[in-house]
Amino acid sequence: MDKVLKHLSSGRLLRFVTSALILAIVGMQSFALWRSYQETWHDGERYTANTISVLAGAIERDFLLVESSLTGLAEALREPTLMALPAALRQRVLFRRAGDANDFGVMLVLDAQGNVLFDDSEEDLSGINFADRDYFRVQRDNPNAGVYVSRPFLSRLSSPERAIGISRRINGSDGSFAGVVVASIRLVYFQQMFERVKLPPGGIVRLTRTDGTVVLRYPSTDGRGNAGDEVTPDVLQRQASAMPDDWRVETSQIDGQRRFLRTVLVKGYPLSVTVGVSARQQFGGWYLRAAITLALTLTISLLLALTVAALSTSLRRSREMERQLERMAITDSLTGLPNRRALDLTLEVEMLRSRREQRELAVLMIDIDHFKRVNDTHGHAMGDAVLAEVAHRVQRAACRPGDFVCRYGGEEFVVVLPETPSAGAELVAERIRAGVAANAIVTHGLAIEITVSVGIAVQRADDGPGELIARSDTALYTAKRAGRNRVARLEAFAA
Ligand code: GH3
Ligand code: MG
Ligand code: MG
Repeated sequence: MDKVLKHLSSGRLLRFVTSALILAIVGMQSFALWRSYQETWHDGERYTANTISVLAGAIERDFLLVESSLTGLAEALREPTLMALPAALRQRVLFRRAGDANDFGVMLVLDAQGNVLFDDSEEDLSGINFADRDYFRVQRDNPNAGVYVSRPFLSRLSSPERAIGISRRINGSDGSFAGVVVASIRLVYFQQMFERVKLPPGGIVRLTRTDGTVVLRYPSTDGRGNAGDEVTPDVLQRQASAMPDDWRVETSQIDGQRRFLRTVLVKGYPLSVTVGVSARQQFGGWYLRAAITLALTLTISLLLALTVAALSTSLRRSREMERQLERMAITDSLTGLPNRRALDLTLEVEMLRSRREQRELAVLMIDIDHFKRVNDTHGHAMGDAVLAEVAHRVQRAACRPGDFVCRYGGEEFVVVLPETPSAGAELVAERIRAGVAANAIVTHGLAIEITVSVGIAVQRADDGPGELIARSDTALYTAKRAGRNRVARLEAFAA
């Protein structure tokens, strides 16, 4: 665990893992959002598809009904004996098939001048001329117009209503224009049909002629179903749309709102039905969810990144501190030399190695002569400065790689000399002694003459670290007794 933590706090790995985590979170959220966007989209598609198929089917059936009534009327008119019939019977013969269509509006038979010949209205329409209506003019001017669906108009009944007319041409026996049969459909009929569709807020239903003339829009923006407004024909819009399944996004030319629209043609008639749902209504909830998800994801990612950064900083700091503590534990703060603890570690390793490699190992014990006097005469601060300088000089003299110099205690130093026989050790010891004694130590404006005594011990086969040090210490005191500022090797004096 410790190792993993160490590895993690190594910066790069931690950054990588954190980035991967954040990426995973962002990826998961994006996927969820994408899925819910698709669902929202499909909901809209399904709703408009269902609604439009119901409406278009109903409208188609109504038109067929009206058209068949017109056909019946036209056939009855061809009856040669028609005019001989009593008026009431004639009325029944003419409009016998119109009963069902009566709900929609009135049926008229107009002569070639647009005057009413027959009608099924309860009002008296005689004397009214309809020659200006498009359902009349188109049939008069075009023998092949077939069944014509007119633009919306305001009816000429006593209580005018908006309606459209569906007309057929009547030809004379010579094929000349003899008038039209026309059935009107009151727009309120479609209005009621559209009202029954429970549209979501912002939704619309529109019945439009294929030339772009609005027959009826629900809800209307002008209080009259927007009848007669002109829009770009839905059929053209649909063709221009890149959306699949006839489903398109369009900004309304009537109220400026963006909607998802679906359009179908009313089979057999130049009409189209369009159902639309408001883009804001359909996707508003989704946008809100997306915004919240985005904000949360960003916050979580940021918090994660910050936490990890803080964690890695504190881990790094604690590791640095640990290292520093370790260093401090084996370093003497006054001289900067390794301390006695470091000596224990080094000596053990070096003694094992020299024994294994059958090499010699020497240890020097160095003690400053009459150091008490320095302290007593010049004060401890001066004593400390002298100590540091002596340390420096000792270290300079034991300069081979592998040589180890440490502060052993008070004003004593130990030098470990691996691969060094006693002759070599004497040489180094002498260099140290001479190096210290060579120049007075100048500190705090004073020059202080300092000397050291050095005791040498060489490792023996059965030595432990304690014995080796003890012997170097004994040698040191031999040197002291012999007058200080000198080097002594135990073996030379012991016997
Ligand atoms: P000698 O070794 O030549 O016999 O005489 P000495 O005066 O050096 O004798 P001794 O070893 O008894 O005294 C060591 C003195 O070193 C004692 C103490 O005042 C001084 N000393 C030890 N450690 C420090 C230190 O860290 N700083 C200073 N300023 N003095 C220290
Ligand atoms: Mg001492
Ligand atoms: Mg001393």
